[in-house]
Amino acid sequence: MNEYRNILLAVDFSTDDHYVAQKAKHLTETFKAELSIIHVLDNIPMPDTAYGTIIPLDQLTSNESLETEKNNLTKIADQLGVSSCHRWLVWGEPKQEIAQFAEEYHIDLIVVGSHGRHGLALLLGSTANGVLHYAKCDVLAIRLQEEGEMS
Ligand code: AMP
Repeated sequence: MNEYRNILLAVDFSTDDHYVAQKAKHLTETFKAELSIIHVLDNIPMPDTAYGTIIPLDQLTSNESLETEKNNLTKIADQLGVSSCHRWLVWGEPKQEIAQFAEEYHIDLIVVGSHGRHGLALLLGSTANGVLHYAKCDVLAIRLQEEGEMS
């Protein structure tokens, strides 16, 4: 099996993040890889910066609507020991932006959570399915349990 050097963890600030993050952390340690963390903002306006849609967290100036997202990302990244230059807030559609970021930053493994979806939800598609569709590198989908699902 090839070694992974650059692992990207995608977080949506849900309660599942911790579980997915622990798996990404374990892989990072196993492969002695570099861990990056990304959250895609699809519901707040993008600030006017020289960066375009991909902005390193430490380059973001203070903006009220961004503070919660910045704090959420900082908290998870601190817990995982992700260095400040590997924390990213990105604007756009999550599945496309995660895949595009991975390509641009030479990521070789993307780690996302995956809910077992049925019916209409399955037809509408999940972020994990979308990332798998767009990504050019490996994608690890961590199976998340639905409420009421037996383990
Ligand atoms: P979903 O398919 O929307 O339930 O999301 C499943 C997984 O996709 C999450 O556990 C995250 O790993 C990833 N994800 C979903 N939304 C985002 C987002 N806005 N930014 C980064 N990752 C996300």
